[in-house]
Amino acid sequence: MKTYRVAIVGAGPAGYFTAQALNNSCDNERNFLIDMFDRLPTPWGLVRSGVAPDHPKIRTVTKVFEKIAAEPNYRYFGNVELGRDVHISDLEKLYDVVVLATGTSLGKKLGIPGEDLPGVISAADFVPWYNGHPDYVDVNPSLTGKYALVIGAGNVAMDCGRMLALVPHELSSTDIADHALEVFHNSSIRDVTIVGRRGPEHAAFTSPELRELPKLDQTDVLIDSQQVTEAIARVGNRMESEKDLRSNLEAMREIAHAEHRGNERRLSLAFLLTPLEILGDGKVERVRFSVNKVIDDKVIATDERIELPCDLLISAIGYEGLEIPGVSNERGRIANNDGKVREGVYVVGWAKRGPSGVIGTNKSDSSEVVKKIIAELPATPKGAVDISGSLSGEKVVTHDGWSAINAAELSAGQALGRPRRKVVSWSELLSLGGAKAT
Ligand code: NAP
Repeated sequence: MKTYRVAIVGAGPAGYFTAQALNNSCDNERNFLIDMFDRLPTPWGLVRSGVAPDHPKIRTVTKVFEKIAAEPNYRYFGNVELGRDVHISDLEKLYDVVVLATGTSLGKKLGIPGEDLPGVISAADFVPWYNGHPDYVDVNPSLTGKYALVIGAGNVAMDCGRMLALVPHELSSTDIADHALEVFHNSSIRDVTIVGRRGPEHAAFTSPELRELPKLDQTDVLIDSQQVTEAIARVGNRMESEKDLRSNLEAMREIAHAEHRGNERRLSLAFLLTPLEILGDGKVERVRFSVNKVIDDKVIATDERIELPCDLLISAIGYEGLEIPGVSNERGRIANNDGKVREGVYVVGWAKRGPSGVIGTNKSDSSEVVKKIIAELPATPKGAVDISGSLSGEKVVTHDGWSAINAAELSAGQALGRPRRKVVSWSELLSLGGAKAT
């Protein structure tokens, strides 16, 4: 029996699905010892700090992660940052295989005038803020105006728009961060518009997300029916042959034709508008857009301009990769060849393919990379060298440490009738996790 030591950097879905695929490929000849590292004391990556709190079903994937973490071949090293506490070169010396599952966390910039005005924030900051990520507690967006615009027509824009538009009591029984729940309760935002630069037929939303909009308790959801009718006419026969496109456009048509209930809160989806400039005196007040049209499936700007009122602007136009020391970055991801970075170093998830795909996409993606890893395993494993010697044990949050944080959060939540009450400060997370800050 050969025992290979694998370091997985990043404890999000791509990291756990890699561990799962490795476990599934153990046989009489080989097995794996898996050490998983994360810069946060807490694991689960985007499932903890990205998934919207009103989507608890998506979070149930953590049951799979917990099962993997309970295996005797798994160890967790939280509060360990690549490049600060440990270098890829250290890991390469100690482990037979290093897998980078570091995601992408920087929001893409719009690159238009006015983007630095107060009241303009990236979804890459807004989402981890409402989800209680300890680095984003101070984002503290101002929800004191009436109008919010969310730029982008993808699922992240949809999450941000929905969170801003729903009545806060729909959030009271979720695991949203306490600080965010309070801000949403006091929010004056009543009119939210999600703005796509192309047509309804080009939107990146997925249809389950569109289909849940009419179920919002006290929010009217609006789409201009003419925009949807014209989009359906433009796509013609593709309505029959392209299932996802049909499902999206049908969901939009249903929304467009639904009766408005006269709710004070409104969530609108608007299309064919490209933001040109963010305007305001000391803070965002309006956004100027070019009005676009579609010709032969291409989007073309017309000479027409419109301005929409805006007290809060969230840009949700995708993500870029952070530079990771020891590997090169290429078009927002870690340079790789089908998941291979170099001998013994691999990459999975958004860090590999860029910021696309739902959580489940990472399962098949990680499995493919694990097939490559297995095919390229060295004939002789490196042997029993242990990372514990290279890390200050005092600062590591182990799996037991995370279990203590988890138990504290679950029991604090239970007392309030919520699934969990997140701990959002570094010092409290480290102290509950039994680790020191330095
Ligand atoms: P996305 O799906 O790639 O959507 C990005 C949107 O931003 C697109 O509509 C894009 O328009 C627009 N955009 C890009 N640059 C722009 C610019 N300069 N000006 C105006 N608009 C611009 O990205 P995402 O929403 O960040 O989502 C990332 C991935 O996570 C997706 O695969 C998504 O499905 C997934 N996700 C899933 C869920 C869920 O399952 N509930 C929730 C959140 C995220 P163009 O198409 O014109 O480029």
